[in-house]
Amino acid sequence: MNLLKKDIIFSDVNKLKGIGKKLSKYLKNRKIEKVKDILLNLPYSETDRSKIVSLNKLEVGKIQTIRVIVKKLNFPRIKNLPNKIVCEDESGKIEIVYFNSREGYLRKLFPINKWVVISGKISFFNKKYQITNPDYVTSLDKEEYVKQIIPKYSLTKGINEKKYRLISEQVINNLPDVEEWYENHFLKKNNFLNWKENIIALHKTKDSQNNLSTTYKRLVFDEILANFIVLSENRKKIKKKKKNKSFKSIISNEILENLSFQLTKSQKDVLKEINLDLKSNTRMFRIIQGDVGSGKTIVSLLSIANVVESKHQCALMAPTEILAKQHFDLAKKIFINTKIKIDFLTGKTEIKKRRKIINDLENGDLHIIIGTHSLFQKKINFKNLGLAIIDEQHKFGVKQRSKLAKKGGDNCDVLLMSATPIPRTMIMSLYGDMDISKIKEKPAKRKKTITLSKPEKKINELWSFINKQTNIGNQVFWVCPLIEESSFLDYSSAKKKFDIINKKFPNKVALIHGALDKTEKEKILNKFLKKEILILVSTTVIEVGIDFPNANLIIIENANKFGLAQLHQLRGRVGRGEKQGVCILLFKEGLSKNAIKRIKILKESDDGFYIAEEDMRLRGFGDIIGYQQSGIKNFRFADPVVHEDLFMLAEKYISSIDINTNETKYTFLLKLFDKAEIIN
Ligand code: ADP
Ligand code: MG
Repeated sequence: MNLLKKDIIFSDVNKLKGIGKKLSKYLKNRKIEKVKDILLNLPYSETDRSKIVSLNKLEVGKIQTIRVIVKKLNFPRIKNLPNKIVCEDESGKIEIVYFNSREGYLRKLFPINKWVVISGKISFFNKKYQITNPDYVTSLDKEEYVKQIIPKYSLTKGINEKKYRLISEQVINNLPDVEEWYENHFLKKNNFLNWKENIIALHKTKDSQNNLSTTYKRLVFDEILANFIVLSENRKKIKKKKKNKSFKSIISNEILENLSFQLTKSQKDVLKEINLDLKSNTRMFRIIQGDVGSGKTIVSLLSIANVVESKHQCALMAPTEILAKQHFDLAKKIFINTKIKIDFLTGKTEIKKRRKIINDLENGDLHIIIGTHSLFQKKINFKNLGLAIIDEQHKFGVKQRSKLAKKGGDNCDVLLMSATPIPRTMIMSLYGDMDISKIKEKPAKRKKTITLSKPEKKINELWSFINKQTNIGNQVFWVCPLIEESSFLDYSSAKKKFDIINKKFPNKVALIHGALDKTEKEKILNKFLKKEILILVSTTVIEVGIDFPNANLIIIENANKFGLAQLHQLRGRVGRGEKQGVCILLFKEGLSKNAIKRIKILKESDDGFYIAEEDMRLRGFGDIIGYQQSGIKNFRFADPVVHEDLFMLAEKYISSIDINTNETKYTFLLKLFDKAEIIN
């Protein structure tokens, strides 16, 4: 067969021989749409059909290959009885059994007194060896096709090994040469094969079953590199634009003087980094990473002050109304002695007010707008937006980020804030296009939340403690993993717990969970904020960013059901004010060693980044909260825990070479991992 043409790699699979509508639909179910998807659909195991086994050495239950002479064909005339073909070799006999097969077809396949090669699963029935519906039956001249070690792919209904082989071998045995994107010395140094040999090896050896084999690693490295190239291109695009903005910081200095607290060193450092960006003639594209309660909001408002003073508008967006409102209230407070105009916009803002805001933003009468996603609707146009800030942005992927940066225009700096501490490999692959500022410490006065664990059966000891807390006006979160009781899962439900607690503390308790609509949720949270209720029973829906300075106790049921990073975030909801925070983790009896280790980490450490790293080590990757939609799952082969070294290597590599994504070799790489369209 001829080598396939290069461009077929990115064509639809139905361009291959033997793929009709039906088969291509089945393949699509397995996400095989383009020819390149066949290359990336790696075998998970293999079937050894390579040895001819004589009939006296058969092993029941195994897939084996035999060479036999056809002796007799038996077609019973009674419905539902199978057709049987008796075959033998020098050492014994075997029956080949077919259900639902046509006579004519079988007569052709099994010519009497001719030798055939058969491969299939050996069974033993009525004292006879049998193969039912064998995978292969062929004449001797074609036996080499069967006598092989055949890669095993996870396939769906409608495609068997034989069919898939026709497709996959067509591609893999005829791969065109492609231009290698790594220099020779780099390949050599890492023992990497060139791309084509590497893909072939992944399909023909056991290398794809070992994610630490050099062959697999080359594929992983390709994938990481493709990801990093996208981020680096995104960054280049943003940084290429020159902006023209002055910089002043008189107002922010005044605000600082009037604050009731001093900024931490970390906050000051981050503010310095931001100010350098604001002064620079390239756009800021920065994320502040700071643990829950590290004081990101004030840093963002001080940056806003600097930008407004340079005669530009600012927008601050938060994921929920209640969080946006908290930012708005704080902003009003700190800008009170200035002429700066601030307003608040959400989906619920009345039409009349909305119109005025839209108008004022267009003509520049409004300087700061704070709100929810409504801020970035099409209808909203700024006279001269100079800074866009998004709080708790961890659900944004690269694509959305790049959209946002476009919306702001060349003079608009972009600042994101996230309270989800994530491990380094993840930061690299999620935010490689951004500059990163970390707020490493928390305000000094704050007391470290005390973390305790308790077996569930001692739950009754908690009531008097809660009673004491609520009597002095403190507030309590009670978190359950489920909304309602489930017959499948032995976890506590918020609804049931609400009934129990509500009886013990009448008129003090409310229930909140994800099934409630947004308005209802915010109503309840507002009541809690105003201390109209003291105990909030919930699932994990409570927004991370909201400041409840008066809540100091959180109780988490079935705590081992949650990831460490998630427990840390839940815990971060208390102890934000001056009161000592307490977090009680409830467990069922009989914890695993791993679970005990996890509790220990949480009790000992208050460092979100450390906890996130440990969480990832213990639970593996992918469970870290909030990142499901962020595009991190785009990794198909790379695992930020297992392949940490390759992430580091890719970071070094990409900074050491000049990548021009217009070069065909890089286009090829990006297309291979479906990244090409993100750049354009
Ligand atoms: P997060 O980083 O989680 O968004 P916030 O900005 O909501 O944290 O800050 C949490 C609380 O800490 C707020 O009440 C805020 O006023 C307070 N705060 C921020 N910075 C300091 C500081 N340097 N000293 C004392 N309190 C601070
Ligand atoms: Mg916050």
